[in-house]
Amino acid sequence: MNEERVAALVEELLKEIGEDPSREGLKLTPGRVARSFKFLFSGYTQDPKELITVFESEANNMIIARDIEVFSMCEHHMLPFFGRCHIGYIAKKKVIGVSKLARIVDVYARRLQIQERLTAQVAREVMDATGAEGVGVVIECRHLCMMMRGVQKQNSVMTTSSVLGSFHDEAATRMEFLNLIGRQA
Ligand code: ZN
Repeated sequence: MNEERVAALVEELLKEIGEDPSREGLKLTPGRVARSFKFLFSGYTQDPKELITVFESEANNMIIARDIEVFSMCEHHMLPFFGRCHIGYIAKKKVIGVSKLARIVDVYARRLQIQERLTAQVAREVMDATGAEGVGVVIECRHLCMMMRGVQKQNSVMTTSSVLGSFHDEAATRMEFLNLIGRQA
């Protein structure tokens, strides 16, 4: 991402929405927005495969990471959506550290997204990295594009899920996962 070019575009945008980019409070805004975008969209230049470390384990019980924070931007309005992600998987021989699970979420969240795709990408990445018997991901988010405009539903939380392997094929496994993350099936 070319920060100078983005800053110039933000300056144009400020004019179009009726602002004066030369006024005191806005002088540094285009540069700030450009640096902020560089971070918020840094997922495009990161390969989750490079940051995941897996280690060998005999564990074959269900491993759960609850309440991983999610901050992303919706691709329809370029407004934030944010909430929590819960990941569960049954390892065969490989497990991932909890901090790395959070990094997987970040890499896919720091792009323009829809919540459904983000959920599916996280599940697929965990599956590919661990070769797990099954993976389940549930994401619950509030979308500013719904809260600030449009239907103005202030309290609606959107829930999406993606289940692979045994989490998909076996109702009992899926149920155990949902119970462990505090949801009823
Ligand atoms: Zn939106």
